[in-house]
Amino acid sequence: MTLYHAPTDDQRFALFDLLGAEATLTQLQGGGEHTRDLLDAVLEEAGKLAEQVLAPTNEAGDAEGCHFDKDSRSVTTPKGFKQAFKAFVDGGWPGLTAKEQFGGQALPGVMGIATTELFQAGNLGWSLYPLLSEGACHALELHGTPAQQETYMKPIVAGRWTGTMCLTEPQAGSDLGLLKTRAEPNADGSYAITGTKIFISAGDHDLAENIVHLVLARLPDAPAGSRGISMFIVPKFMVGADGALGTRNNAYPGAIEHKMGIHGSATCVMNFDGATGYLIGKPHKGLAAMFTMMNAARLSVGVQGLALAERAWQNSLNYARERLQGRSLSGAKLPEKVADNLLVQPDVRRMLLTQRAFVEGSRALLYYTALQTDIEARGSDEAARQKASELVAFLIPIAKGFVTEIAQEATKEALQIYGGHGYIAENGMEQFVRDARIITLYEGTTGIQAADLLGRKILQLQGVGFKHFAGEIGAFCKAHAGDAKLAAFIAPLGAAVKQWGELTLALAGRVQANPEELGAAAVDYLWYSGYVTLAYFWARSVAAAEAGNHPAAFKQAKRDTATFYFARLLPRTLAHKVAIEAGVASIPDIA
Ligand SMILES: Cc1cc2nc3c(=O)[nH]c(=O)nc-3n(C[C@H](O)[C@H](O)[C@H](O)COP(=O)(O)OP(=O)(O)OC[C@H]3O[C@@H](n4cnc5c(N)ncnc54)[C@H](O)[C@@H]3O)c2cc1C
Repeated sequence: MTLYHAPTDDQRFALFDLLGAEATLTQLQGGGEHTRDLLDAVLEEAGKLAEQVLAPTNEAGDAEGCHFDKDSRSVTTPKGFKQAFKAFVDGGWPGLTAKEQFGGQALPGVMGIATTELFQAGNLGWSLYPLLSEGACHALELHGTPAQQETYMKPIVAGRWTGTMCLTEPQAGSDLGLLKTRAEPNADGSYAITGTKIFISAGDHDLAENIVHLVLARLPDAPAGSRGISMFIVPKFMVGADGALGTRNNAYPGAIEHKMGIHGSATCVMNFDGATGYLIGKPHKGLAAMFTMMNAARLSVGVQGLALAERAWQNSLNYARERLQGRSLSGAKLPEKVADNLLVQPDVRRMLLTQRAFVEGSRALLYYTALQTDIEARGSDEAARQKASELVAFLIPIAKGFVTEIAQEATKEALQIYGGHGYIAENGMEQFVRDARIITLYEGTTGIQAADLLGRKILQLQGVGFKHFAGEIGAFCKAHAGDAKLAAFIAPLGAAVKQWGELTLALAGRVQANPEELGAAAVDYLWYSGYVTLAYFWARSVAAAEAGNHPAAFKQAKRDTATFYFARLLPRTLAHKVAIEAGVASIPDIA
């Protein structure tokens, strides 16, 4: 089995030393109790669940996968998933961040993200069942009536039921305006939902008593395109006025997909054949409603990249320490052994440092963004909430688009360190690479994140979030201008953020002249933005490590990784800049 140790030390460092989460959270409305002691205890318990319960199910779950029974039209999850889900529910985890009025514990969103990291690293396939439920809860909280919240949300918060998000159809993926599922009004105020959804995560399973599907469909009078989409609650089992389960609704899985990774997650074709549904939110406003919870979902997928990269990194580091092969270029380092270990090879260290830089840098970025969502929700004044909201909007495509992409490289390098053994299933490394592949695709592909960043967050919203973030980096550079311990990082960071601003401005002008320039530049711009963003968090990491009471080895590791990042990874921005400037003229038409 691949190993997994909850990285609680680095989580604590990111939360408390780097981001000052305790000071921020305790000042938010209703945050008085969110002290470090409480948050530490939550992390500790989540770490135990991830290490002891979830991690051991990861490889067996991948090997076994889910089963679909055609006769009963039902899905069974791999062995051990049910027990793991029960332990998750018994620990009160489904309601961690839900409001108390719904039976939750109202912990901050950043703690939801930090604990989700642990569960996803334990078993990504399994973690999708609670994750989709959380998405459904958000939708119900934001758009449901009090009665809908009482009937459908509370049982999900309690962990008795789970939820799904049914958007995708064969002809409607990134472009949901093309979806065809119909909703016809019934005499009793409900709707008959008819259509086929594909790729529905957690569409059916045996972990909970009921499933609440949130389905996008069109009313008979719906305008064409994305403005004609409404959202419906479609329960697997009908629910009586007393909350008791009744008859089976006509919403069945038709098959499960056989896919590259996350085998433990049931990815279902869902057939709705006149299934009973209830409108949630306003008619024709379903897509807008989905978008209000998109930030949370996209942030969680970014965290999937962090989670997989962390576990892959831990294993490859361990392997590099133990594997004896060849000798150091400058003479034997372990002369008493038949060969040196892999750590003596600069190229292996390059692969390890790349992973570490991506993992710990991503953690800082993702937790920072999550903390902003807490300020956005519960900040004490309107100006602080507004600023946080603009920062979140700007950072989400980077947190999702960039972090999931660098997770591909991180898991690939982890496998590479195993040599041919990485390619062999029983060593577990190829599963990380396979599992990671989905995260750049669902919840909006990298192309869609990049278009959101450049098209919406920079051009449409006139870069308001960018200005806050670049301003914050500028202030950090100014505050540390004379700090000898940060001298190696401040000048290149200042130069990078200045160039980022100039590049953004020049690009905005080019896109105005020719909209095709947007599509030609967007993904390179996303990468560019991601590298500069991580540079900021690495410089801050060194500052926080120096300022804190940490062991010398911890401080040195932060400094070494930051030095590597600035020397070997940040310069990748130069290639992206050249690509951006090559413009659409360098991407000819293809017949
Ligand atoms: C395992 C798995 C689980 C999933 N879970 C769910 C789920 O629970 N619920 C759900 O509703 N869906 C789910 N999905 C669907 C997923 O969200 C879609 O597959 C995804 O949104 C992409 O849609 P598509 O596959 O149709 O690709 P397309 O939209 O056809 O895109 C194909 C390619 O074209 C690019 N492209 C398309 N449009 C643009 C554009 N405007 N600008 C730039 N590039 C563009 C894309 O980036 C991509 O590279 C899941 C998918 C998988 C594989």
